[in-house]
Amino acid sequence: MNNVLRTLVFNGQVSLTVIDGTEIVKEGAKLHNLTPAASYVFGKALCVMTYMSACLKEESGEISLSLKGNGTGGEIAVSGNRALRIRGYIENTDLVGCEDCETERCALGDNGSLTIIRDDGYNRPFIGACAVPGFGGVDEAFEEYYRISEQLPTRIKSGVEFGENNEVVFAGAVVLQPLPFASDDTLDKVYETDLDELLSLIKTLGVEGVAEKFDCDKQVWDSRKASYRCNCSKHYLSRVLVSLGEDALREIIREDGAARIHCHYCNTDYEFTGEDADKIFAHKKKD
Ligand SMILES: [Zn+2]
Repeated sequence: MNNVLRTLVFNGQVSLTVIDGTEIVKEGAKLHNLTPAASYVFGKALCVMTYMSACLKEESGEISLSLKGNGTGGEIAVSGNRALRIRGYIENTDLVGCEDCETERCALGDNGSLTIIRDDGYNRPFIGACAVPGFGGVDEAFEEYYRISEQLPTRIKSGVEFGENNEVVFAGAVVLQPLPFASDDTLDKVYETDLDELLSLIKTLGVEGVAEKFDCDKQVWDSRKASYRCNCSKHYLSRVLVSLGEDALREIIREDGAARIHCHYCNTDYEFTGEDADKIFAHKKKD
């Protein structure tokens, strides 16, 4: 089922994106064996990254984020592409909620920064960054990023909810981004919109139902499917090993029995033996 809906609202002056990220966050939490607190913070970043990926214009486009501060969550990294395959990791998979303040604040800490790398597939990638504001959490960090780095007054609300057994039962995001020609009246409407309510309505109405609450432009109705998918493979990683050089790779295999690579994004271990090295470099010699 499609879980990302983009359209224009408020007389075509504002782009609206509604995301049901439940399956994405469930998969990420399962792959990394995350605590509920870690699932919460990481899940919000996954949902916002789904939005950023849906904004990519080029087929070959890729976007990555790194949220890093001195908080208890450690680094959070998430990547996505135009095909809406989202993947990532949170450094502290055992993160526990904080009693005294919001879990998000503790996880992100102070002096944090948000870095975005967008690669459209040609030329040099675009790199933007902002300091994570000393209030709020993931959503506020991204709003700040859009304000500072892209000069777009964007409103973002993401959320992750848990069931009785602390399992993820819902995750999603709602984003309103005025286009550059939006009028002041329209901007007022954007700020008056209750994003919490819309986010909650995804559970009963679905992403399309939430968009239909608005007087939206059905000519611009982009309905798509996003999923948690890593793009690693043994073949892909063998190309990384080629860059090590044959002598260095064979040395590692001789010493350790095999060369091991861990993919942080999907928590998968890959092992390369002497036989694999034969294949990798036999192929290379033919080229
Ligand atoms: Zn992977």
